[in-house]
Amino acid sequence: MEPRDGSPEARSSDSESASASSSGSERDAGPEPDKAPRRLNKRRFPGLRLFGHRKAITKSGLQHLAPPPPTPGALCSEPERQVRSTVDWSESATYGEHIWFETNVSGDFCYVGEQYCVAKMLQKSVSRRKCAACKIVVHTPCIEQLEKINFRCKPSFRESGSRNIREPTFVRHHWVHRRRQDGKCRHCGKGFQQKFTFHSKEIVAISCSWCKQAYHSKVSCFMLQQIEEPCSLGVHAAVVIPPTWILRARRPQNTLKASKKKKRASFKRKSSKKGPEEGRWRPFIIRPTPSPLMKPLLVFVNPKSGGNQGAKIIQSFLWYLNPRQVFDLSQGGPKEALEMYRKVHNLRILACGGDGTVGWILSTLDQLRLKPPPPVAILPLGTGNDLARTLNWGGGYTDEPVSKILSHVEEGNVVQLDRWDLRAEPNPDAGPEEREEGATDRLPLDVFNNYFSLGFDAHVTLEFHESREANPEKFNSRFRNKMFYAGTAFSDFLMGSSKDLAKHIRVVCDGTDLTPKIQDLKPQCIVFLNIPRYCAGTMPWGHPGEHHDFEPQRHDDGYLEVIGFTMTSLAALQVGGHGERLTQCREVVLTTSKAIPVQVDGEPCKLAASRIRIALRNQATMVQKAKRRSAAPLHSDQQPVPEQLRIQVSRVSMHDYEALHYDKEQLKEASVPLGTVVVPGDSDLELCRAHIERLQQEPEGAGAKSPTCQKLSPKWCFLDATTASRFYRIDRAQEHLNYVTEIAQDEIYILDPELLGASARPDLPTPTSPLPPSPCSPTLRSLPGDAPPPKGEELIEAAKRNNFCKLQELHRAGGDLMHRDEQSRTLLHHAVSTGSKEVVRYLLDHAPPEILDAVEENPCSHSGETCLHQAAALGRRTICHYIVEAGASLMKTDQQGDTPRQRAEKAQDTELAAYLENRQHYQMIQREDQETAV
Ligand SMILES: [Zn+2]
Ligand SMILES: [Zn+2]
Ligand SMILES: [Zn+2]
Ligand SMILES: [Zn+2]
Repeated sequence: MEPRDGSPEARSSDSESASASSSGSERDAGPEPDKAPRRLNKRRFPGLRLFGHRKAITKSGLQHLAPPPPTPGALCSEPERQVRSTVDWSESATYGEHIWFETNVSGDFCYVGEQYCVAKMLQKSVSRRKCAACKIVVHTPCIEQLEKINFRCKPSFRESGSRNIREPTFVRHHWVHRRRQDGKCRHCGKGFQQKFTFHSKEIVAISCSWCKQAYHSKVSCFMLQQIEEPCSLGVHAAVVIPPTWILRARRPQNTLKASKKKKRASFKRKSSKKGPEEGRWRPFIIRPTPSPLMKPLLVFVNPKSGGNQGAKIIQSFLWYLNPRQVFDLSQGGPKEALEMYRKVHNLRILACGGDGTVGWILSTLDQLRLKPPPPVAILPLGTGNDLARTLNWGGGYTDEPVSKILSHVEEGNVVQLDRWDLRAEPNPDAGPEEREEGATDRLPLDVFNNYFSLGFDAHVTLEFHESREANPEKFNSRFRNKMFYAGTAFSDFLMGSSKDLAKHIRVVCDGTDLTPKIQDLKPQCIVFLNIPRYCAGTMPWGHPGEHHDFEPQRHDDGYLEVIGFTMTSLAALQVGGHGERLTQCREVVLTTSKAIPVQVDGEPCKLAASRIRIALRNQATMVQKAKRRSAAPLHSDQQPVPEQLRIQVSRVSMHDYEALHYDKEQLKEASVPLGTVVVPGDSDLELCRAHIERLQQEPEGAGAKSPTCQKLSPKWCFLDATTASRFYRIDRAQEHLNYVTEIAQDEIYILDPELLGASARPDLPTPTSPLPPSPCSPTLRSLPGDAPPPKGEELIEAAKRNNFCKLQELHRAGGDLMHRDEQSRTLLHHAVSTGSKEVVRYLLDHAPPEILDAVEENPCSHSGETCLHQAAALGRRTICHYIVEAGASLMKTDQQGDTPRQRAEKAQDTELAAYLENRQHYQMIQREDQETAV
């Protein structure tokens, strides 16, 4: 497919449409490209003026890298090619393919231009999509029109078969016309738009979607030779993986049609012999050009984390980086990507999600044994995130620009993190009569990064998970913490067996028996802690310096801290207290004589009487966020740090912040002065916070009479008003990493979520407390007709006999798909045992979701089975896949204490077990979603 010569003309139509009102149909021949570079004649009509550029831009995009011959696969599927919102890693990936997301941006332009835009013909409002990688916007039906103007996305790879392969490869700019552009023109230094032409149709800028350089779209600023220059990849070049490193390898092909079939057949044979790993054909290979200055980055995002924060942040990474270095964890685990990039020197990893996401990546790195292991940085999403807090990444994400985050990942220090092995085996001395219902022999994870605990905290988590399964929208981590700290209310726990925790455990640490000490203390729970943080930011070991019997806690010293909690110390923990320090040790042998709730990094289970060994497994390499410079502010080159700083503090309300944070000036105007603080010139924000809070305690002054005397909310935070193009919040857990001089000159802005905004009417609900949506699970039941609804037994009979038509008919006539037989078996249980995919599919689509985790109660065999246990035990892979994707729990244990994965293992279906394990990890990290603060 050669570049179409007709396309430059086509392209120019866009600009005509952009300036249709002024330019009419006049047309200028434009400059000849072969005389370039030369300045174009400056005219008033942007459309005509741009004509020459458009031609050049079209040429400069991908054609230099020689668009590959179309693959047969791509050709065949072209007509029904779907609109992708993910990166295509298949062999038939299209060169320069955009990555489309729904958008509701204002304005009505379409990048294809008026001549090719088909939206008008449809005479209704048409949805539009934005490409995350190059940020163009088109109507969804206009996507295929982009072919006509030959506008492709920034190329994320190169073709190994291309003629140009031996040429020195460099990246070219990917120039895109912009109707809005932040920042300044690289040539003339002026901004891009007047204040009031916000939704102008006019093209104001040309910018590169790799390096982000932007120019006015006029010849005096953007010269033709710039089109041809190599692209530097911009300020984040050190972490961006250049498209020239990523090669698409084609399978050798003779005649297209014949060989395709053959290859497919041989591929199948090969893969079945060698297993899924070795036999897999990898269409993409990485051929890095090492450079000592580079720290190429792989980003893994849990899109569900933190109430879908992850899904939004993926789009930003696609813009700042090469889309082929950004991975959505819902599209498969981290393993394949890590394998593909394993040879890249100086690789860094950014895990975006909760601590579970980080744990998954660390376990995968263990499996792959990369040498040296790439250091892992964290972008914490959701709440909790104790590991992220420990490594200075903060407890959650608010709105820090992704560009800032990338700089922190690049500049962060490499540190070590101890990881601990957990081995549990049944306690041989415990009699079978000790076996409790629902107790398991197996731990949910066999390695931990944060902690292992037993007793009350695990009990609360277990209960929390169980009640949330019944009523998901009510539960979040704040609620859990409430359950936890208000512990004394849980009389059922205190009445229950675990109240005498101390009587049922034996703890030996490095050969020393701690049991007598524990029996004296009578703790309600015991925590074996690796990092200083626990339970969303508390510090149970206490602060270094205040104790002399023990060493301060470190995450890389090969020691665990053993801490006991009574109900009193639990309550104290929340207000800055600590637990009872028992010991610091390298090895633990813990014996329990009855079933006790335990917890591994937040994953609870009720563990039958066991002997548990904890020992150091290895050290993971992590990236710790660094304090910017040793003791100097950002602009130290110009001015020395003043000894004292006098700073005006101004408050911004959440309402104004949300409405105006794209416009610094307006937001500054909307802010309300709170007072003035005087702080040392080198103070960080932590110190500054103390000064600001003191403002409140000062005797009533002039400020008190003003209408702004509303008390400062305890939830206030700092805003960075200087280092990015917009304001953004600074995570409270990271205040010690920022100097005052970095975020403020003589005025500092803080966000007070409880302050009534200048523009907020009191009758409006405050935006800080949105009510969580309370969707009731839709129960799809057919309306009963005239006849009495069919009996449940009939439905069961139909499912048993695999009579799909009958089942449908009964359902339509009002039959209840939730009917259960005398052993509590659902229709789904029956459909799974007959193996009917059709019936399973139908039930998953039409029955209420409760059917997924409904449990069989059969007194004689395999009681406690969900339909997934059953499907796993029978090795029904497709059905397992259906049920898992429909959302069934992979963590549920049957009466034997087995999860579906363990049932597949017992049935010796290792591939199915591997699939279920992967999905189990995914399900664990999906919970991160629900752990969002309200
Ligand atoms: Zn359109
Ligand atoms: Zn694009
Ligand atoms: Zn560029
Ligand atoms: Zn300019």
